[in-house]
Amino acid sequence: MTEGKWDEKFAIFLKKYYWDSILQLANNYPDHRSLVVDFSDLEIFDRNIANELLFNPDEVIPGANNALQQIDLPVEKELDDAKVRFIRIPSKVPSRELRSKHLLQLVAIEGMIRKATEVRPKVTNAAFQCMRCEHVTMVPQNEIKFTEPHECENETCGRKGPFKIVINQSAFIDAQKLQIQESPENLKGGAQPQSLDVDAEDDLAGIVKPGDRVIINGILRSHQRTTREGKSPFYDLVVHANSIEYMDQEFDELEISPEEEEEILSMGRDPAIYKKVIGSIAPSIYGYDDVKEALSLQLFSGVPKHLPDGSRVRGDIHMLFVGDPGVAKSQMLRYMVKLSPRGVFASGKSASSSGLTAAAVRDDLGDGRWTLEAGALVMADMGIAAVDEMDKMSTEDKSALHEAMEQQTISVAKAGILATLKSRCALLGAANPKYGRFDRYEGIAQQINMPPALVSRFDMIFVLLDTPNEDMDSRIAKHILKSHYAGELSEQRKNMPTSNITQEQVDDYMGVIKPVIDADMLRKYVAYSRRNIFPVMEEEARVHLVKFYMDLRKMGDGKDAPVPVTARQLEALVRLAEASARLRLSNIATLEDAKKATGIVYACLRQVGVDPDTGAFDVDVIASGTSKSQRDRIKIIKEIIKYVGEKHPGGKAPLEEVYAEARNQEIDREHAEELISKMRRSGDLIKPDKEHVKVV
Ligand code: ADP
Ligand code: MG
Repeated sequence: MTEGKWDEKFAIFLKKYYWDSILQLANNYPDHRSLVVDFSDLEIFDRNIANELLFNPDEVIPGANNALQQIDLPVEKELDDAKVRFIRIPSKVPSRELRSKHLLQLVAIEGMIRKATEVRPKVTNAAFQCMRCEHVTMVPQNEIKFTEPHECENETCGRKGPFKIVINQSAFIDAQKLQIQESPENLKGGAQPQSLDVDAEDDLAGIVKPGDRVIINGILRSHQRTTREGKSPFYDLVVHANSIEYMDQEFDELEISPEEEEEILSMGRDPAIYKKVIGSIAPSIYGYDDVKEALSLQLFSGVPKHLPDGSRVRGDIHMLFVGDPGVAKSQMLRYMVKLSPRGVFASGKSASSSGLTAAAVRDDLGDGRWTLEAGALVMADMGIAAVDEMDKMSTEDKSALHEAMEQQTISVAKAGILATLKSRCALLGAANPKYGRFDRYEGIAQQINMPPALVSRFDMIFVLLDTPNEDMDSRIAKHILKSHYAGELSEQRKNMPTSNITQEQVDDYMGVIKPVIDADMLRKYVAYSRRNIFPVMEEEARVHLVKFYMDLRKMGDGKDAPVPVTARQLEALVRLAEASARLRLSNIATLEDAKKATGIVYACLRQVGVDPDTGAFDVDVIASGTSKSQRDRIKIIKEIIKYVGEKHPGGKAPLEEVYAEARNQEIDREHAEELISKMRRSGDLIKPDKEHVKVV
């Protein structure tokens, strides 16, 4: 093969297919240095060259670059540093399937940017000046190691240095290392995502951010690993990027065939669709119909809106489960990750350096350079981030969450890295109370160790209590045993050839825990709806929401009354009503949808915002942990203890006398006991012995 074989062919191809783009490039050169070439054009021009490009890119791409750099332009300009960048490469390979046969080929890797280092200059051709004779020797640099000259090039000198580098005579390019990871939607059943390192150079450096969904087209190369003992026989893979394509469409990757679209549309017309979707959420978990209803709406989400002032209102519905251990919180989270077209699971106490949001770290990828790494909320962009054990989040994550939940961005400013990453996802959180069990007299925020301002950003909070109830317990127990039994039948049939269990029997029992709509189809249904359905709310529906909101506000009317609800709940209502319309593929949010929304919010508020003493809604319970009436009562009890204590030595008030006095003030004994134990926990009281209390 002669040098320049590809140069000539590309000269013809580029002139024929890309002349206008080349002229434009010449106009903007050197600010723009890339000519983007669509692979399919090359294929039409010459199938052979196109094929060679895929299998022999190290010869073909330099040929294409030469052709571009030497093209005769009608204007006085040299494109001597311009590059041809090929896009829409057909040979897409999932990164977990990359094998040695792909080495040195042009591959297209699809995924999400997980990490990106700072952009730094990299020397490509270093100028060494001999410190004895001042002669300058140029040494081209390779990818792996910095090479110095063996001896001075100058024949009359020829000594082994010493040399010094002359920066302004050396050639540099911008370089950045990236790490691309498989997108959550391409992972089946919670598999660990695999990642691959990418070298981005020149004008490709600094254009992507962690969280971006991209296709990297490039040459797959390998670097020999080195260990402390020396070179290892194993090679690490790295893609040398030729071009980067953006994918920003929501759920672009989930393909829906025309037949499936037909099926989706007919599902949307089914009057029972609402029930069917609810029945498809975590069927192995018994009960929780109201929670599952809310989870269904979270899948579909409200409509994100772009306002004329440039701001964006989120459509995502944030939900939080708080409650006793063992009530299937974690199970439901995991199931939602499976159902969401883009679900990411994370734990608040996860050890990952990026945490939940994002972090600037120094690690191997950048050889000690600062690297920006995306956390779960960035990786779940346009999907659902399920975060378990939120009570154990780090302080940094807690403060970053405020921005992530409302603005849906995550800003990082550390070590010279300034970046704003997108995190347009719905947050589904679960938290365990500090003292193990949920205490309905204490505020949610304190019990789960989160700032109240953060807690109030959830559209819905469900308190899941594990209260013994004979009827319910037996039904849950039966359900759990049935699903285990079905599993046992299926396993025995599968693994024991002698088993006489029939498939019919297995199917029969599996029916109990089978989702009504199977998970793959539901994912597609959700993706279709979120892509195509943008409901507008009817007048009646709006009137209903406003009235509901006003009524709630009014409950707290009057002097010194707690504020019952805030405008946040009104926004939550709107999102839920829109999601309800989307669930049945309707472009109108009707009164029915609005009623569903108010029903759910009412149920939620009753659990969390309700003052357990008066029954009135009181958002103070969420915010400060104590409702107004409770605060008043605590004050009364404290006065009583002080007053009784004064009559006894050492200020020790006998409990019986305290209870008696409390009864006079219309606080019954059970209640007084609860308040006293609460005050002991908060450190306002001490109990010197079993029979006495004392104010601190
Ligand atoms: P949590 O995260 O709330 O502590 P888990 O999600 O780990 O609880 O659930 C504990 C176990 O109890 C799981 O195996 C779950 O399947 C089971 N479980 C709890 N409640 C139910 C229920 N209502 N129906 C079926 N299984 C349940
Ligand atoms: Mg759990």
